[in-house]
Amino acid sequence: MSSEFEQNLKKYAKVIVKVGLNLQPGQRLLIGGLTLSNDGTPLEFAPLVRLIAKEAYQIGARLVDVMWGDDQLRLIRFQHAPKDSFEVFPKWRIDAEVKIGEAGDADLVIVSSDPELLREQDPQLITKFQQTFFKHVKPLSDLISKNAMNWLAASGATDGWANKVFPTFPKKSRKAKLWDSIFEICRVKEKDPISAWRDHIDQLGKRKDYLNSKKYNELKLIAPGTDLTIGLPKGHKWVGGITTTQNGINFTPNMPTEEIFTIPHKDKTEGIVSSTKPLYYGGVIIEDFRLKFSEGRIIEVKAKKGADFLLKTLETDNGARYLGEIALVPHSSPISQSDLLFYNTLIDENAAIHVAFGRARKFNLENGEEMSDDDFAGVGGNLSLIHIDFMIGSGEMDVDGITEDGTFEPIMRNGEWAFKV
Ligand code: ZN
Repeated sequence: MSSEFEQNLKKYAKVIVKVGLNLQPGQRLLIGGLTLSNDGTPLEFAPLVRLIAKEAYQIGARLVDVMWGDDQLRLIRFQHAPKDSFEVFPKWRIDAEVKIGEAGDADLVIVSSDPELLREQDPQLITKFQQTFFKHVKPLSDLISKNAMNWLAASGATDGWANKVFPTFPKKSRKAKLWDSIFEICRVKEKDPISAWRDHIDQLGKRKDYLNSKKYNELKLIAPGTDLTIGLPKGHKWVGGITTTQNGINFTPNMPTEEIFTIPHKDKTEGIVSSTKPLYYGGVIIEDFRLKFSEGRIIEVKAKKGADFLLKTLETDNGARYLGEIALVPHSSPISQSDLLFYNTLIDENAAIHVAFGRARKFNLENGEEMSDDDFAGVGGNLSLIHIDFMIGSGEMDVDGITEDGTFEPIMRNGEWAFKV
């Protein structure tokens, strides 16, 4: 490994601990929760995890603990475990994260995604596996939705993932290339990454404040294949860059992050939307799809690839067919400019304007954190076990905000911000 790589990895660890988590003296840090992509922190990340632990202890962390995982073990389970065992779930992993959240400590996941890992496995088993995951992850999603703790989802390169993103590069250099891209889009290669992040977060904050001051009634999104009106609930909050926990810690929950997002009113989306990038979701790729909405509900689904899987996912529960997020990202974002497809929503969602079907977040609504599920749904918040982002933006998308009296105001033109801050 080159010393340049080691230096970048060290800077990455610092950015993760100081900006992403903003870990506080006296906090515990748990690394390696369960995600749809990974059963824990991939063993390949041990060098990064050790650097993170050092940074954390230097700040005054009381204990850094790790739950390891391994993609190959997941594959072995699909290949060899009894077919009727896929509703068995390692609940202790979620319990550990919930305890961290309830105590107001910090939680970090470092994800990697190998889109081909489960390619040859039985789709029914994959669906069963996902349903089991969603059934058990709710207590954790609830804590996240309430900003109970400072948490961060970041990513790291693994061989399986690098093979998919850089298939034309010599095999030996692919992982280094993916690490390099991650460093690039996470501003690690800047001279002073911490201050570069502060500037970036500041910019996002100004855009967010502008949109919050506007209190738009609706958004109108127009692009080839898309003509969508999204009603926004009263008291919706645009969120981006920094988020604050209930006990007052400012943290940045995603790295990279380029988005400013809010909550759609669950019953007020009308029209048609087309995807502009493939959606990689839990082992399956869904491509070139179009959704038609009426009164907030997806009433028609067309997809060139992965239609069955998409339909199955939309059957998860009642809320799965309604939107839970609309996020604005300029087409000139560094991730969009890299022109790479990462097959990883954490990164790809920051390349384009996107929406998510499924669960809305309570922190996107004024006083939402204190609302019960019923109250939240009553004012337009969507409830679901799933939350799946998909990309709809491009250099051809225009977005307008529609005010209470019906005036259209430009928010984005040809994929770029149309207002000054
Ligand atoms: Zn998003």
